[in-house]
Amino acid sequence: MVKIKKQHVGDIKINEKWCKGCGICVEFCAQKVLEMKNGRAVLVNIEQCTQCMLCELRCPDFAITVGGGINEK
Ligand code: SF4
Ligand code: SF4
Repeated sequence: MVKIKKQHVGDIKINEKWCKGCGICVEFCAQKVLEMKNGRAVLVNIEQCTQCMLCELRCPDFAITVGGGINEK
């Protein structure tokens, strides 16, 4: 079996009701996991996510949660 190098990616959830479409998460995500679509953040590249947590930490409306993340070793 070939070992997969990429980190296991936990769930990222965007709460559409809380997202006000400010785009901060898109700006902070160096992996380009997120994009703006119809005025809301959407996940477009989840396999690139490194679980850096920046989107969750920077979202002023707490609309993003990165599953696993810092609690997952
Ligand atoms: S930072 Fe939060 S409120 Fe702003 S676009 Fe991203 S998810 Fe929406
Ligand atoms: S956890 Fe980091 S890499 Fe993943 S979507 Fe958020 S900002 Fe991008």
